[in-house]
Amino acid sequence: LHNAIQELKGNIRVFCRVRPLLGDEKAAAASLPISFPECDDNNEIELVQSSENALGKATSKAFPFKFDRVFAPDSSQDAVFEDVSQLIQSALDGYPVCIFAYGQTGSGKTHTMQGPDSISLSSKDEHILGIIPRAVKQIYENTNKLAERGWEYTLEGQFLEIYNETLQDLLAPTGRGAQTNDKQAKLDIYQDSEGHTRVKNVTTVKVDSAERVHWLLARAADNRTVAATNCNERSSRSHSVFTLFLRGTNALTGESSSGVLNLIDLAGSERLANSGSSGDRLKETQAINKSLACLGDVIAALAKGSRHIPYRNSKLTHLLQESLGAGNSKTLMFVCVNPSPGSAQESLCSLQFATKVNSC
Ligand code: ADP
Ligand code: MG
Repeated sequence: LHNAIQELKGNIRVFCRVRPLLGDEKAAAASLPISFPECDDNNEIELVQSSENALGKATSKAFPFKFDRVFAPDSSQDAVFEDVSQLIQSALDGYPVCIFAYGQTGSGKTHTMQGPDSISLSSKDEHILGIIPRAVKQIYENTNKLAERGWEYTLEGQFLEIYNETLQDLLAPTGRGAQTNDKQAKLDIYQDSEGHTRVKNVTTVKVDSAERVHWLLARAADNRTVAATNCNERSSRSHSVFTLFLRGTNALTGESSSGVLNLIDLAGSERLANSGSSGDRLKETQAINKSLACLGDVIAALAKGSRHIPYRNSKLTHLLQESLGAGNSKTLMFVCVNPSPGSAQESLCSLQFATKVNSC
């Protein structure tokens, strides 16, 4: 099924995931702006926007959307990963793969990519884990199987944060990452002798067991805490990019393969009024708006087959240049949605952005 979709649609797909209402939201929400038209293939969603007209009369307008897949609030992490695992396998087979989570703050991006923030990362309850730990586990298990056929893989990971168009190393020894200007200045994106996009001075770690990824996520969380008094706030204002390089050689057949898996938790997409903010806030807002718009531009330019792809317009697209641009690359974007009435306007913006990406 996945390969069939792939052939039909080129190499960009969009999945929509609507999270459940949480705690107080349940009582506050009498009726929800989001609904799921009855259909067999789970790929439609409708948003109803309510407003008052000039005469004070309530009006509403329905916006139907269709994506490659729509996950309703009751969808489990297991169900979501089931539809992602083929793409993870592609990275092992030597393809460059990018999986993005897009949406306003609180819409479920981190839950989807990583898992609930509060869990102890070594949690034995695997059902609540998100895509990063599951992907590593799947890759690790498959490399073990492939070893029986002569394949030997090295898996190396790096974890970067892009804050205000500046790279931060989330795997730097704890307490040193994401901090001083000295440290930041050293993390430059460059092209190596083989033309691969690399980051100077970034910490790369061998991911030599499925457990290693829990260590790695914990260190990233530590580095974020050191860098910000309010960790959640900080993570919602920055992009985080987990990259796994998968290189395999087969001593029996002489074959080799080199894939890259990028798992990206984007900064919150909420429109923050430029007018109301100033100083650091304004700078943050402009950096986020610019880089999300640039991501949309790059995807559109790639889909159109444009000669000039504006990768250099943001750190995010520059960093991902090789993975996004390669002819055989595969990209998946999750658009995450908070179903609360108060979020209807932001949800509409997110769904519209995702539709633009989906039509590429
Ligand atoms: P974001 O990263 O987009 O800001 P989070 O992933 O942190 O949002 O989600 C916001 C809150 O909603 C968190 O408390 C998270 O645990 C919860 N949440 C998100 N998605 C789900 C889901 N599918 N099921 C249950 N809880 C969820
Ligand atoms: Mg988050």
